[in-house]
Amino acid sequence: MRAALLHGPGDLRVEEVAEPEGEVLVTVEAATSCATDVKCLLYGHRILGPYPARFGHETVGRREDTGARVLVADSVACATCAQCLAGRTQLCERMTWVLGGFAERIAAPSGALHAVPDGLDAAGAAIAEPLAAAVHAVARAGASARAGARAAVLGGGTMGLMLARLLHLQGCDVTLADRHAERRRQAAALGAHPVAALAPTGYELVMEAVGRPEAWRDAISAAAPGATVVLVGGCPAGSAVTLPSGPLHYAELDVRGAFHHTPAEVDHALTLLAEGNVDWRAMIGAPIGLDDLGAALLAPNTGEARKLVVDPHR
Ligand SMILES: [Zn+2]
Ligand SMILES: [Zn+2]
Repeated sequence: MRAALLHGPGDLRVEEVAEPEGEVLVTVEAATSCATDVKCLLYGHRILGPYPARFGHETVGRREDTGARVLVADSVACATCAQCLAGRTQLCERMTWVLGGFAERIAAPSGALHAVPDGLDAAGAAIAEPLAAAVHAVARAGASARAGARAAVLGGGTMGLMLARLLHLQGCDVTLADRHAERRRQAAALGAHPVAALAPTGYELVMEAVGRPEAWRDAISAAAPGATVVLVGGCPAGSAVTLPSGPLHYAELDVRGAFHHTPAEVDHALTLLAEGNVDWRAMIGAPIGLDDLGAALLAPNTGEARKLVVDPHR
């Protein structure tokens, strides 16, 4: 079968490879991409296996044994480590990562598979993986994401747009900041007030979805006394971030990280998509084949925020 393989940083090749081996074989219908895939391609990533490495972690297809349509979640927690026993499976110390969606077939443990609701397109279902991370991030905001709360989202990439939509669905009064006019238009269509930059006017909840130290600082600056700040965007590996001590101490800001998702959050994301609560078509581009993946991942990311959709059988 054909697969996109990483042979090293910056070295992506589409090759004929051996069939994947594992518990359940899934014929891939759609695999969407995100910033993590760009990082995997350019720099490598801690979740990648040894080179040559298969990648692609937002994958939907059909089980070869039963014919059922499934989302292949990108991880399975061990269920026995201290974090798993504490109920934080997203922080599992012995996570099994399930990568390889950019291929005609992927092998997965059955524990990674989620049933796709009837009527939901493959590309729409693949979005459930990042949407589950957004669901998790909003859960981390806790009671701050209450109806009527003044909430801000920093960054109008697809993660920021998903966060804005989820907060809007919860009844928050959402402002989304992004310097791209096209993304501000997308945010408005999802129910947020778009602005080019957040004024430090005191939001009760700020969700950061950029992943740069200066954006983390901006998130702190935009928070009202007693607010919650959720850091969703991952800064480059090894980044040191300097935050102003004043608001952290005197304004009692509650600053929280948000990473990954739980299996229940993946199922919740699939339900939101199937019920039409999140317009996934507004967040994806036209499907491409495996041969176009490398160039598409490296193309400058300006204008509208749209995820790549790979159909490996094109
Ligand atoms: Zn992703
Ligand atoms: Zn674990």
